[in-house]
Amino acid sequence: MKMNEHALNLLRDLSDAPGASGFEDEVVKVARQYAASIGEMKEDFLRNLYIYRKENTGNKPVLLLDGHSDEVGLIVHSIKPNGCLRFLQLGSWNKNALVSSKVLVRNAKGEYIPGIIAAKPVHFMSAAEKANPSMDISNMVIDIGATSYQDAVENFHVRMGEPVVPATKFYHDEKRGLLFGKAFDCRIGCAAMLEALHRLEGKDLPCDVVAVLSTQEEVGHRGSQVAIHNVKPDIAVVMEGCPADDTFTESYAIQTALGKGPMFRHMDISVICAPRYQRWALDLAAKKGIPVQESVREGGGNNAATVQSTLSGAPAIVAGVPVRYAHSTDCISTEFDFEATVQMVMALLENIDADVIRGM
Ligand SMILES: [Zn+2]
Repeated sequence: MKMNEHALNLLRDLSDAPGASGFEDEVVKVARQYAASIGEMKEDFLRNLYIYRKENTGNKPVLLLDGHSDEVGLIVHSIKPNGCLRFLQLGSWNKNALVSSKVLVRNAKGEYIPGIIAAKPVHFMSAAEKANPSMDISNMVIDIGATSYQDAVENFHVRMGEPVVPATKFYHDEKRGLLFGKAFDCRIGCAAMLEALHRLEGKDLPCDVVAVLSTQEEVGHRGSQVAIHNVKPDIAVVMEGCPADDTFTESYAIQTALGKGPMFRHMDISVICAPRYQRWALDLAAKKGIPVQESVREGGGNNAATVQSTLSGAPAIVAGVPVRYAHSTDCISTEFDFEATVQMVMALLENIDADVIRGM
């Protein structure tokens, strides 16, 4: 299964957009461009972006389609006398992924300027440091090339509180159907959601669909906590770019591999996805011949937790595009998984009706 040009451009633009938690402005801008034909859009103070299908009637059950717009990022903590920047995490990183990474630091003029998370040259490392390099964030710095505090402030215009994201650019390996980029958690989920809505334009659906690009998921589902109150959903489908386990796990325990379709989790440590709904969705996939995977996750967390614990606790499932190396600077996914996810989301939107919701 191949992606079309529209979907590839959508994913590229979303992946490349800088959008650390709390600083999702560029992502919202890209989403607005692509969603203009889908329906009316609104925002709230957190910059949650609400997209109301223009075919919505106002008298059908409300289906929330959620994808989070933020990505794990960093934030400038302070500027050292030598011009290097100390930082804290926005969301949770594998610290091994940080050192030597190229990053983009937003400055006071709103420009994203290049930097490198400094790796101490091996020439200056003691034997003890070589054997056991420190991965403590408080010892790491971003080098933007400045030579002093004054240089950093006056010539680079950096300041405390500004966001930092990986400098990774999207790359499409057309021959092998592979996708490389940053922030696939959850931009690839957002792209699949917007692509599905685009393909369903003009079609009558059994539910009124409100899609939300929700902010600040990586720091504790903060955007979705507000969005639920505005949407008041009867049922929800949560999109994710979810971590693939096929390069680390023993084969019997692999539950999220590349090339096997979207992953539907029975649970993670934040939520038990409504079991009857989950089974119904897996049966629907089988009936439609759409490849899907299922998992019982030992870690993780997602916005379905918010949906099922707010207002009336609407049933929620999670459609996750498998992503290798989520929460690091560089991710890998596949065209096949993207396409299978789009088809599955379309099947869900075409088949969830009032009777199905009553059955939950
Ligand atoms: Zn996510």
